[in-house]
Amino acid sequence: MDAIAAGRLTAAELERNFSDIHVPLDRKRALIEASRCYFCFDAPCLQACPTGIDIPGFIRKISTDNVKGAAVTILNENIMGGACARVCPVEVLCEAACVREAQEEKPVQIGALQRYATDWLFDKKLQPFTRAEPSGKRIAVVGAGPAGLACAHRLSMLGHDVTVYESRPKAGGLNEYGVAAYKMPDDFAQHEVDFILGLGGIEVEYGKRLGRDVSLADLRRDYDAVFLGVGHEGVNALDMEGETMTGVMDAVAYIERLRQTKDKRSLEIGRRIVVIGGGNTAIDIAVQAKKLGAEDVTIVYRRGPDHMGATRHEQELAQTSGVGIKHWARPVRLVGHKGQLKEVEFEYTQLDENGRLMTTGDRFTLLTDMLFKAIGQNFVPDPLGKDHAEVVELADGRIRVNAEHQTSLPGVWAAGDCVPGEDLTVIAVQGGKIAAHSIDRSLRS
Ligand SMILES: Cc1cc2nc3c(=O)[nH]c(=O)nc-3n(C[C@H](O)[C@H](O)[C@H](O)COP(=O)(O)OP(=O)(O)OC[C@H]3O[C@@H](n4cnc5c(N)ncnc54)[C@H](O)[C@@H]3O)c2cc1C
Ligand code: SF4
Repeated sequence: MDAIAAGRLTAAELERNFSDIHVPLDRKRALIEASRCYFCFDAPCLQACPTGIDIPGFIRKISTDNVKGAAVTILNENIMGGACARVCPVEVLCEAACVREAQEEKPVQIGALQRYATDWLFDKKLQPFTRAEPSGKRIAVVGAGPAGLACAHRLSMLGHDVTVYESRPKAGGLNEYGVAAYKMPDDFAQHEVDFILGLGGIEVEYGKRLGRDVSLADLRRDYDAVFLGVGHEGVNALDMEGETMTGVMDAVAYIERLRQTKDKRSLEIGRRIVVIGGGNTAIDIAVQAKKLGAEDVTIVYRRGPDHMGATRHEQELAQTSGVGIKHWARPVRLVGHKGQLKEVEFEYTQLDENGRLMTTGDRFTLLTDMLFKAIGQNFVPDPLGKDHAEVVELADGRIRVNAEHQTSLPGVWAAGDCVPGEDLTVIAVQGGKIAAHSIDRSLRS
């Protein structure tokens, strides 16, 4: 087989490899797990949840078999509670704070219980939310990712009419196009979108892009308020000669193809893969490359394990999936033959006495068919428009917002990856929710 080839594994092997990474709890196991909760007063898990879900409250409802009540408690604070139960790094959020973690290093499985409750409600196709009396106000939301959908849902509940402008053909943002396939199988992202839109009052204009089909000036003129949830569109480059060679790829773009391809046997993957980066995207592409049948997958990161953006849990997942992680090295040369990547040369790195990263001069080479760049994404402000009056102020290269998620431009709010902060689904949902309440207060005052 060629160095880069499709169909390395059989359809059955691929189906097994990309099946749900977590086995959902059944009723009996959910009840046992719920019984482990102390229902702490001032529960630390609740403080650690970015969306402020009443965790002891929903676990108590599960323990009395009130699963619908549990799901409503979760979704009230986090309308993407189903997705977050699958993708949240609970090991550094609620479960890290659980008192059982401190006592016995075995936290209550909050994420699994959250999934048990929300899946129950989705399976029953129940719609527990209703809309308030119509306010007569219309709000434009740009981007149908977690931030945009959370904002749109809350605004609709509060009685406002929402139009979502989404440049892609499907809603869900990175839940649909980015998150690792084994975390979100069975088209879960679209089921969740259907549930959110099922409330009513939210129209999605697919294929409509801010900056191309509609301008910020149009939206500010035609709507009572505007929310921006456009995420990141740019990816950081290695800035190395040879970056355009066949075999050098952007991890996020490849994952998007992987998520949208029905037949994973059609995806071409190399035999020997190198991934550059230390965040969750690096782990996700490395693990998925392995699951597609790559023989040798190595993540190379310029600092140590404690500096990696990926949690310890994610790093372990990579290692148990057969991915090697090489720390303290950075790529210095891409070597190709007839336009095809063949080798990557690395230099070892270390910290000097002032804590600055420096190279040691020692080098090594990895034979490589495919190199995935996973060195971060960035916000591209172009869609906001060139007109000076419409340019929203930036901070750290993203849209600057206050605690209410208001931008510097009157009548415009923003949240999610396009504003400064951690890039997590749960943070985007919370930002969208806060912005919706702020918009509501501003329109009613
Ligand atoms: C590969 C990868 C894996 C990840 N895995 C996890 C994980 O396991 N757990 C976790 O918590 N987080 C994870 N994240 C991060 C998480 O997905 C994001 O933080 C979250 O999706 C941010 O939501 P958002 O709504 O701000 O942006 P997005 O999800 O990016 O949604 C933005 C939406 O806006 C649309 N849009 C963009 N520009 C325009 C425009 N000009 N006009 C109209 N529409 C536009 C886009 O098409 C998109 O639908 C991952 C990210 C990546 C890249
Ligand atoms: S910290 Fe743990 S034990 Fe206490 S309420 Fe939260 S989940 Fe239950």
